[in-house]
Amino acid sequence: MTSIALPELLELEDLVRLAGTRIEQRLLCEVSFDKQRLPVHAYMLGSQDPQAPAVGVFGGVHGLERIGAEVVIAYLRSLVMRLRWDETLHRQLESMRLVFVPLVNPGGLCRGTRANPNGVDLMRNAPVDARERVPYLVGGQRISAALPWYRGNLGAPMESESAALCKVVAEELSCRPFSITVDCHSGFGLHDRVWFPFAHTTRPIDHLPEIHALCETMDETLLHHRYIVEPQSRQYLAHGDLWDHLYLGVRPERVFLPLTLEMGSWLWVRKNPRQLLSRHGLFNPTIEHRQHRVLRRHIGWLDFITRAACSHLRWTPTDAQRQRHRELAMARWYGRPER
Ligand SMILES: [Zn+2]
Repeated sequence: MTSIALPELLELEDLVRLAGTRIEQRLLCEVSFDKQRLPVHAYMLGSQDPQAPAVGVFGGVHGLERIGAEVVIAYLRSLVMRLRWDETLHRQLESMRLVFVPLVNPGGLCRGTRANPNGVDLMRNAPVDARERVPYLVGGQRISAALPWYRGNLGAPMESESAALCKVVAEELSCRPFSITVDCHSGFGLHDRVWFPFAHTTRPIDHLPEIHALCETMDETLLHHRYIVEPQSRQYLAHGDLWDHLYLGVRPERVFLPLTLEMGSWLWVRKNPRQLLSRHGLFNPTIEHRQHRVLRRHIGWLDFITRAACSHLRWTPTDAQRQRHRELAMARWYGRPER
């Protein structure tokens, strides 16, 4: 095996060394690229109880959006460091599980492309078709792997990276009574957005009351936060979304809330117009202090999400409260769209 050039993989090796027996590393799959074998690893911390709530944090699905992987690794690093001294974190991990997959698409990261080395956009690769009209190309296409947003061939098995993601979610997260996943991306736009399903239809998900209760808790706790929470369908519809596919496969009595963090990259471009000249810079903050600010902000939010999952029994609505949350959510997100 050739030595691996990705700095993110070296940092993860370092973190595993630092964490010792507190972290479990599992190889999900390997991807061939440029005569190298690139691993896709999951890193697990916390309770072994299959009934314990869990959070999964994913990054690097789109290789171009490097900052997504960096946010996941930075959060993992802060947890590993806190394990050395933070009693409250040890208590928290006694009653919950954390799963990290920071580099879902290492081949795309090496190549600096959104797609994997086969030209497939992993976030368009699931066998779920939009029922309504999707935007041309962006919504997913089967015309050619040479064009962006390629879904893969009709009827072909999922790409190994997509299948690995689905497998670890099914085995470690969505099989539990309560789990949240966060998939970290950096997209276009001025705002940091938190998306929840669906992407393939404007229909609301069954767990809309739980999403609304989580959002209300966040608004009340993370004062003055800048995140816009909304269903992905309010921005655009797409075929093949992995999180839609996973959500649809979960038994309804399980609460599985898949979130996507879309960091607003125009925030960085507006302050540094030279980023427009670089494809990498368009999706990633180039000035160091800006990158630090991005990482700091989202580490705080990820920590809120893990605490919320750990304490889910205190804020998830009861049967009687679910109707109120559903009505508020319908008014907030499924009425007149606000841009
Ligand atoms: Zn993305």
